Amino acid sequence: MRFAPSPTGYLHIGGARTALYDWLLAKKEKGLFLLRIEDTDRSRYVPEAMEDIMESLRWLGLHWDEGPDVGGPAGPYQQSERVELYRRHAEDLVARGKAYYCFCPPERLEELRRSGYGYDGHCRELPAEVCREYLEEGKKAVIRFKIPQEGKITVRDYLRGEMVFDLQTLDDFVLLKSDGFPTYHLAVVVDDHLMEISHVMRGDEWLPSVPRHILLYEAFGWEPPVFIHLPVLLAPDGKGKLSKRHGATSLREYREKGYLPEAVNNFLLLLGWHPPDDREVLTMEEAAAVFSPERINTSPVAFSLEKLDWLNGVYIRQLAPEDLAARALPFLQKDGVLPDPCPPERFAYLVRIIPLVQERLKLLSEISQQTAYFFQEEIPVPPPELLVGKKSSAGETRELLAAALKALEGVEDFSAAALEEVLRGLAAELGIKPGPLFMPIRVAITGRTATPGLFETMEAIGKPRVLQRIRAAIEGLA
Ligand code: GLU
Repeated sequence: MRFAPSPTGYLHIGGARTALYDWLLAKKEKGLFLLRIEDTDRSRYVPEAMEDIMESLRWLGLHWDEGPDVGGPAGPYQQSERVELYRRHAEDLVARGKAYYCFCPPERLEELRRSGYGYDGHCRELPAEVCREYLEEGKKAVIRFKIPQEGKITVRDYLRGEMVFDLQTLDDFVLLKSDGFPTYHLAVVVDDHLMEISHVMRGDEWLPSVPRHILLYEAFGWEPPVFIHLPVLLAPDGKGKLSKRHGATSLREYREKGYLPEAVNNFLLLLGWHPPDDREVLTMEEAAAVFSPERINTSPVAFSLEKLDWLNGVYIRQLAPEDLAARALPFLQKDGVLPDPCPPERFAYLVRIIPLVQERLKLLSEISQQTAYFFQEEIPVPPPELLVGKKSSAGETRELLAAALKALEGVEDFSAAALEEVLRGLAAELGIKPGPLFMPIRVAITGRTATPGLFETMEAIGKPRVLQRIRAAIEGLA
C-alpha cells in the first residue's frame, strides 16, 4: 500500500483518512505501507507541507515502512527526485509509438481549451525526422499519450465493479511537461509499478483518472494494481464537500485543539467503514485485525464533529492519570499555567488532580480553564453575583463563609472525607441544607460554579490556600 500526498498544504482530514485506510489494509494483510511525496506540480508546491504531512502521520501513529526519510528498495520516494526516471519512461513510449512529441504553442492549446474541446491530435502524426529536427532546434515540447482512436476501455474499481469508458471521450493527455517534469498520470503509474503497489486506495476524486492509468499500464505492458476509491467526505450538514468554511480541515488544527490521536483515528476509521459488529470504539490494533475493504461504503459520508468530541471524551477517560497529565502539560504550558520545563513536583501535583477533571474533559485544550485554580497561588476574588445564591444576600453569604472558615481552621486532617464530615456537620448545626453552604465555598476557592467534587477539590488545593481564598471572598462581600 502507499499513501501518496501532494505537498500542497497541511495534511487534510480526508487525506488522513486515506492514509489510515491504506495503513490498516497493509497491517491486516501483513503487507508494507509506504509514503511517497508527489511533488511534481511545482506551481502548487508548499515548502512546509511535506514536514507537516510526515509529522501529522507520525502523530497518528501511521508509520511507514518505506518513505522519503527512511528510504527503501524502491527509493527515492519523493517524485521530484525521480524526474529522470519518468523522462526515460515517456521516451520509451515514444520510441514504441505509444506516445508522441507535441510542439503546439501555449496559445494554440489555450484556444482549443476555450473552444471546449480537448487536444485535437495536431502533432500526433508528425514524422520522426521533423520531430528530431524540432528537438535539435531546441523547440519546446511535451510528450503526449496516444489514445487509441476508437474502442472502449473497461476499468474496475474494487467497490464499484466494472465501468466502461468510451475512448473517444479521452484526449491525448500530457505525460511529460515541457519543463521535463512528469504529469501526475505518468508519475503515479510508473511509481505504483516500480514500487510494487498491489492495491491503490485513494480518494474518490481520482476515479476519473483510472481509464488513463489503465491505458498507461497496457502501453507499458504492466499489470495494474487493484483500485479502491474511498467515498467523498461531506460537510456536517451533508450538503456539499467538507471545506474550510465548516471548521478545521487540517489535521494540525485538530491536534492543536486537543484531540487525542486515538480519537481522531477512531473517528476517521468510521468515516466510510464500519466493523462487522458495528462497534463504535475500536483501537487501531483492533481495527487492523478486522479491516476489510468490502466494508467500505461508496456513498458519501458526512463529517460529524459531535461524534469526534464524544470519542475524544471516551479516550480521555481511558487514559492513566500520568499519561493524560503528560498530554495535557503542553496545553497548560502554552497557556502559562505551568512553567516549561515543568518541575517534577508540579507535574506530580498535576497527576494528582487529573482524576478530578478527567470525567468532564472533552478537549485537552480545556485543561487550563478547568484546572488553573489548582495551580494558582491566588485566584481573582469572585464577584458577589457569583458568590451570593439567588435566594440569599451578601450579608448571609458572608456569614456562611465566616462560619465555614471558622470550622475549617480547626481541621487538622485536611482530607476529603474529614472535610465532608465537618461541612455537613456545620450545615446541620446551622439548620440549613448543605447546598447553600457548599456553593459559596466552591465559588470562593475556585471562582467557578461547576467544579469537581468540592471536598476532593479542597483537599487538592490544600488548607492554606482554601482558608486564604475564603477570607478574600468574605472581604470581597463586605
Ligand atoms: N498525489 C495525489 C494527491 O495528493 C494522490 C493521488 C493518488 O493517490 O493516486 O491526492
